[in-house]
Amino acid sequence: MTEERQKIKNTQRWVVKIGSALLTDNGCGLKHDVLDNWVSQIAELNKRGIEIVLVSSGAVAEGVSRLGWKRRPNVVHELQAAAAVGQMGLIHAYEVCFQKYDKHTAQILLTHDDVANRARYLNARTSMNTLLKLGVIPIVNENDTVATDEIRFGDNDTLAGLVANLIDAELLVLLTDQKGLYNADPRVDSNAKLIEQAEASDKSLESFAGEGGSLGRGGMRTKLKAAVVAMKSGTQTVIASGSDESILLKIANGETVGTLLTTAEESLQAKKQWLANQAHLQGTVTLDDGAVTALKKNGKSLLPVGIKSVAGEFKRGEIVSCVDNGGNEIARGLTNYDSVQTKLIIGKSTKEIQELLGQIEEDELIHRDNLILI
Ligand code: GLU
Repeated sequence: MTEERQKIKNTQRWVVKIGSALLTDNGCGLKHDVLDNWVSQIAELNKRGIEIVLVSSGAVAEGVSRLGWKRRPNVVHELQAAAAVGQMGLIHAYEVCFQKYDKHTAQILLTHDDVANRARYLNARTSMNTLLKLGVIPIVNENDTVATDEIRFGDNDTLAGLVANLIDAELLVLLTDQKGLYNADPRVDSNAKLIEQAEASDKSLESFAGEGGSLGRGGMRTKLKAAVVAMKSGTQTVIASGSDESILLKIANGETVGTLLTTAEESLQAKKQWLANQAHLQGTVTLDDGAVTALKKNGKSLLPVGIKSVAGEFKRGEIVSCVDNGGNEIARGLTNYDSVQTKLIIGKSTKEIQELLGQIEEDELIHRDNLILI
């Protein structure tokens, strides 16, 4: 077992992406027995302490079957209609299966824009983290009614990479109908060799990636792209065969299956590096001495109670600079409250904030995970 595979054994937060080709009966309807098997593996991993967000397609195929259509249509708005109908069946099928393991599920429909926009990024991140804390399995699909990236490009792969960034996943598992990434197309070249491990950033891998099949539009190209996206939060990626009935367990056991795409950096570190490089600060908050110590010495989050004054205009999710009494920058991070709200809640306790704003976004102005010390 390589050192990297060994490390996977200790991971605790995964994103698993299952594409249409694996879940559906030739594009028409869901294969419930297959779905059952994924669910049983995920439930087992959950029992071992691994939190999992599932990214699953299959809505269009289920919709095509529910609407009684003979084949998948070519017109985008019909595909969107099928996705809207089929999403009900997809999520219902998962719910029924997970109930057998006493697991609640949650439906999350996302678009790439939701993740690019900082405020919505924070919203999605907080709700997903809350669901994970509650032991719920979030099931993500692209919101095909308002976006058609997956319908057009098979981009649930990239969406899965973005979800990995969102929740700081340690591992992204992309399941496919191939054993992993080969150095040639195994369907036509019998000498094609499986690449067991490579760096996600290795540009030469692109030359090995072909296009997707007719059901799942993904193919290796979008999977490599997803691994590069995942790398930004220090997430490792495994591309592996969904036809192996115990593939998730094998991956969790550190077995050499599929293609492991490694990243150099640890997850939180990668994010903090990104924060450190952001030159565009939208505002400044001045901290009292207690808050400075809490941040610098005790590794704590920044609470509104420790803030003395606010300067500049900023929105939720933007980056603010944290300075001490003397105006020296000591930290920066993503704020949970905009500048108007921050001015209202400075110096206040959580209870007072709730009374003032009617509701509470988060206890912290800046959560520790979204903050770097300068
Ligand atoms: N997100 C869609 C689904 O769940 C699209 C996949 C596809 O194009 O087949 O089915």
